[in-house]
Parts: sequence; structure tokens; C-alpha cells
Amino acid sequence: MAQLHWMILTLSTLCAFLPVLHASAGDADPIYKSCVEQCEKSGCVGNKCFQHCKFSSDGKPIDGPWYMQEPLYLRWKQWDCRSDCRYHCMLAREEEREKLGDKPVKYHGKWPFQRVYGIQEPVAVALSALNLAMQFHGWISFFILLYYKLPLKQNKRTYYEYTGLWHIYAILSMNSWFWSAVFHSRDVELTEKLDYSSAVALIGFSLIISILRAFNVRDEAARVMVAAPLLAFVTTHILYLNFYKLDYGLNMKVCAAMGVAQLLVWAIWAGVTRHPSRWKLWVVVGGGGLAMLLEIYDFPPYRGFVDAHALWHATTIPFTYLWWSFVRDDAEFRTLTLIKKVK
Ligand SMILES: [Zn+2]
Repeated sequence: MAQLHWMILTLSTLCAFLPVLHASAGDADPIYKSCVEQCEKSGCVGNKCFQHCKFSSDGKPIDGPWYMQEPLYLRWKQWDCRSDCRYHCMLAREEEREKLGDKPVKYHGKWPFQRVYGIQEPVAVALSALNLAMQFHGWISFFILLYYKLPLKQNKRTYYEYTGLWHIYAILSMNSWFWSAVFHSRDVELTEKLDYSSAVALIGFSLIISILRAFNVRDEAARVMVAAPLLAFVTTHILYLNFYKLDYGLNMKVCAAMGVAQLLVWAIWAGVTRHPSRWKLWVVVGGGGLAMLLEIYDFPPYRGFVDAHALWHATTIPFTYLWWSFVRDDAEFRTLTLIKKVK
């Protein structure tokens, strides 16, 4: 359940900010709109001008080697120009609003963040990196426990029946945090799709693992029966998001449904099991629930840096630690039980 908590965290993390890119108060403002329009033509906001906005009259970049004159490069340039214009018009508009005593508003679904070295949300990026490091630490310590500390079978395989599943889980979660860091650095369509797809894959796999572990499914055929329909569903959903329609509302429902399902599975299991480390599950589930309030209570970034979503990423760090600690306990507990049976 910790996992599920954790998952819910992640899922919220990744899904909760899906509904982002649609019109928000900030970008509906006519002053902001005309600023962006002006900027895309002139390449300047006030006395700040942007390199990326330099286009010659026929639409080709002014200078650079042949490969930089390709249409693809031009498209990148236009994206960068638009993104610089939006950013600086937002800063200018927010400054004006602040002077009038108005509170910050969202632009294109996101709070006005201060960029640092071109990174959109430096705090969320740093926290995503820390989460990735925690996952890596948890995975390595799990690996060392299983292969170097606990006894192995004669064929050098582990007694613990869920080893492979946790390896996959570790890889999917590290992948997901990696793309989360990239997405918070710069949100363009590509980074957004990669981030959402990784999150969906992680949440889907976590649901599978929760069912297999809580119901003690050890038989290979039974595992396939549980996993196959879920894998098919998750794969279809990812393909739908990437190649048909990036539907934020639908994705949030799918993520929430899979998240709540695994939360229930772990919570019910934690309630009935005599597992020695069940309290860890409870902590992660309870704590995760509280942390989710952060995603519901969405406040603007403090000094342009720390918003509710960034804090949420901070809370997943201790839960990740506790979660892997539960997984290690589970590996030890199962191994000792199995060895006793053999003797
Ligand atoms: Zn995030």
C-alpha cells in the first residue's frame, strides 16, 4: 500500500498537472495576448529582445550552416521564440498586476515561475532528481540484500518470488522521475507526452504488482492472467494519448482509477495481513493521503519558486525511502518463511 500511496502520489504528481495547457485567467487577459502577438512579430518585450525571434522576411533563418536552415530547425526556433515571448510577457504582466495589488494568476495552466538558467521550474526539477536518486538508492539496497545478504537457491535465484517485478518497478519509476525532471525543465509537447506516458506506465505496473503481491499470486499462469488485460489497457491508453489525442481529463480519470484501485488493494491487505512491516504500509498510505491535499490546495509559487506541486514532489522523497524499506522487509520475511518450510 505504501506503494500504492506512493503511486497515488506519483500519479497525482504526474496526472494532476495534466489539465495544464488550457486557457487560464492569465493567458485570457487581452493585455498579455497583445503583448505576445507584438513580441512574435518584433522579437522584443519592452527593451528585451530574443535571439530566437530573428527571422528573415522569407521565413528562413538569417545565418548559420545548411543544417540550421532546415524547416525543423526553423520550427524549433519558432517554439523558442513563442516560449520566450510568453515568458517575458507573463513576467511583465505579473509585475504590473503586483503593483495594482492583484494576486498571481495562471498562464497556460501554470503558475508564473521564475526561470533559472532557462529552467522553468527549478525546484520541481531538483526534487524530481532527488526522487530519482531515492528510487535508485532503494533499488540498489534491495538488490544487495537479495543477492549478497540473503541465501540464494542452488540455481542462484532468489527465494523471494517478487524480485523480478520489483526490478521492473524500479526501472519504471526511475524512468518516470527522469522525464518528470525534463518536463519541469521545459514543457513542450514532446516532453509532456514522455512524462505522461512514463507516469501511466508506472501507475499501471504498480497496480499489477499490488494485486500480485497482496493476493500472493505466485503461479506463472495466474500472473499472466492478471497482468495481460491490465498491460493491454495501459498500452492502449498510452498509444491513445500519444497518437490520437492528449486528453487531460480522460488521462486524469484513468490515472486516478488505477491509483485508487491499488491504494485500496494495499490498504485492505495491510488491514488483514500479519506481515511484520505492515505499519510501514500504513504510514505511506496515511501520509500519502495527507500529501495529496497539496495537490488539491493549489497555491501560487512562493517568490516564483515553490508551489504546491513542488512541495508534493518533496513529500514523495521520504515515502519512497519507507516504501523501499518495506520492500526489503518483505523480501527478508518471505525468504525466511520459505527457508523454514524447506527445512
Ligand atoms: Zn511534477
